[in-house]
Amino acid sequence: MFDLEVHSIGSGSSGNAMLLKTQASCLLIDAGVGIRKLTEALKNRSVNGENLQGILLTHEHWDHVRSVPSILRKWNIPVIANCGTLHAVSEKWDLQHTVEMPTGSERRIGDFLVRSFSLSHDAADPVGYLIHVRDQCIAYATDTGFVSEALREACNEAKLCILESNHDTDWLWRGPYPLEMKQRISSDKGHLSNVQTADLIIRRLEENGPACFWLAHLSAVNNSPSLARKQVSNAISIATKVSFHLDVALRDRPSLLWSPNQTSFQLRMNI
Ligand SMILES: [Zn+2]
Ligand SMILES: [Zn+2]
Repeated sequence: MFDLEVHSIGSGSSGNAMLLKTQASCLLIDAGVGIRKLTEALKNRSVNGENLQGILLTHEHWDHVRSVPSILRKWNIPVIANCGTLHAVSEKWDLQHTVEMPTGSERRIGDFLVRSFSLSHDAADPVGYLIHVRDQCIAYATDTGFVSEALREACNEAKLCILESNHDTDWLWRGPYPLEMKQRISSDKGHLSNVQTADLIIRRLEENGPACFWLAHLSAVNNSPSLARKQVSNAISIATKVSFHLDVALRDRPSLLWSPNQTSFQLRMNI
């Protein structure tokens, strides 16, 4: 039996971590969730941290790397990232075991065939990941200010697309953030809005048929799970008849599980 599982452990500016799991391999994408919560989530999913194949980092921002030193103190596993991200993280902490994965390159990590692609964000060398596991494919892209061709191509290959849907533009501009922060978030090197993500999903569906989408990295101040879900699913339903499954990864707790096992897009809340 094919046993791939994707778990959202936390997603948003307070901490990001995604777990990919097969019977033989486990991999973390980002480690920005607090160590206690992360350890608990791994335990609840029958994962021994020592058996993680590594921590794949998207970029060096705190909400993606916060628990790296705690993890490395507990378990002897590699930190895998491109040179720019490894360099930036190494300025904060002494990383003993690193594996450099140049942007755009492909690498086999246990059961996972991982390829990175460039994103546009105010970090050293931010990336998203496209992960093949046998005939399944998952795209992961948060923290990007615009939708590049590389991101579109990754989504076209994937059956599960985990995509940033950070803010509602009106909420952002009417909200309490200082002007400079609003400009940063809405810039090409900031974060995707609900509308930008909806447009990306619509094109993905039109070009490559049905898929499952997780909206990720929602802002606590400038968005809400219900608003993001409503805006994005309404925009998609108006634009295309292609079927889709959409859910929202919650910010502060484990929330979603995807597995291709029982149905094509089996998804359930697992709080
Ligand atoms: Zn982030
Ligand atoms: Zn970031």
